[in-house]
Amino acid sequence: MRLHIGLDDTDSPKGGCTTYIGALLVQRLLALGVEFIDYPNLIRLNPNVPWKTRGNGAISLRIQCPPEAVDEIEETVFEEVEENSDLTCPNTNPGAVIYAGDVSPALTEFAKRTITSLVELEEAIRLIKRFGASALGLKNGRGVIGALAAIGETLTGDHTYEFLAYRTPENRGSKRRVEAESVFKMDEATTPSTFSNVDPQDRRVLITPHGPDPILFGVRGETPETVYAAAQVVVAEEPIERWVIYRTNQGTDAHFTAVERIGELRLNHPVVVEGAVLEEPETIKGGHVILRVGDKSGSVDCAAYEPTKSFRKVVKELIPGDLVKIYGGLKQHEGIRAATLNIEKLEVLRLTPKVVYENPLCPRCGSRMEAMGREQGYRCRKCGLRGQEMRKQPIILKREIREGVYLPPPRAQRHLTKPFQRYGREKNSAEVHLIERWHYP
Ligand code: ZN
Repeated sequence: MRLHIGLDDTDSPKGGCTTYIGALLVQRLLALGVEFIDYPNLIRLNPNVPWKTRGNGAISLRIQCPPEAVDEIEETVFEEVEENSDLTCPNTNPGAVIYAGDVSPALTEFAKRTITSLVELEEAIRLIKRFGASALGLKNGRGVIGALAAIGETLTGDHTYEFLAYRTPENRGSKRRVEAESVFKMDEATTPSTFSNVDPQDRRVLITPHGPDPILFGVRGETPETVYAAAQVVVAEEPIERWVIYRTNQGTDAHFTAVERIGELRLNHPVVVEGAVLEEPETIKGGHVILRVGDKSGSVDCAAYEPTKSFRKVVKELIPGDLVKIYGGLKQHEGIRAATLNIEKLEVLRLTPKVVYENPLCPRCGSRMEAMGREQGYRCRKCGLRGQEMRKQPIILKREIREGVYLPPPRAQRHLTKPFQRYGREKNSAEVHLIERWHYP
């Protein structure tokens, strides 16, 4: 029989990682004699939920097993979740779901909503009861939502892969030892089939995280073969306890939903919305750039935050009248009355001419003329020519940006944001074949 195992919300800012529990389970479940029918799936959920611990990533494992093995599998899964979750963190509310059979369309629909919006725990519990699934919810049990969503998102549309390598316990919390030069070499050899390995602007390695979690590095790419081959080029200067290849919705823009009017924006929802720039962009304290965008239904402050670095320069070049498409999430910040749309991606749809008005040039000697007073016309200082009927002349300035798509630098991008390398590489089917080496041990 087919079994789908979903896990979510086991980590905390102090450590842990749901993908690591997934990697542990791969080893334990294989030892029980089960057969994997897909790579473990890593499903990034709505990054704008107010209660997320870190990247808001849930996982699922899809296996084939004899019916008599189900009880032992269930025990194994629940045991690993209980042992490896950080239950001391108030925001960590682990959940595990085990679902038998083919994934129902109702679950897939639920998963899409968990990625693009907010869903309630009650709905997840109703679905679990309806399908007779088993579930484990620790503390407030909210992790059950993501666990169920990770089962429901079967990644039949666009998807990518990530090779995740994990550290041995004694090294966790210390600086990661991965040879930077090898990462640049890997990037050069495999891009654009891999993405977000390095930040070319400041030559920074991006495959290693910085927190106390057990991940040593992660290589993202288009196929399992590519991420496996790329990971072989990376030189780890500390032992790798285990590694696994995940199939994932990272880098697919799966979280965005188009919204017709600015007046329809909803808090904590990832959206794509069009509007006109209403005011000159303003740089506020902390180096954040605020852009006021509106349409007939209303207006909203959009923010390019300081960590987006050079991306802010693009936003600052916009002027009133420009038409833009904003990709982002509407967030309420403390101390600010109106909600702000954080800009994850910007598409400049139409640039308006930038016009300045200057005093006319003297028709006799070519010097710039000066005004004689309000509505009094102009006078040339050099040759004395006077022109009562002369007016200021419009000058069309060159715009420093072009129409097109703009993204923050890779290190400021969300897990779900589709990077430039992926444009034109979107997949529309999932013919899964497990390569020989997709996990260790
Ligand atoms: Zn003159």
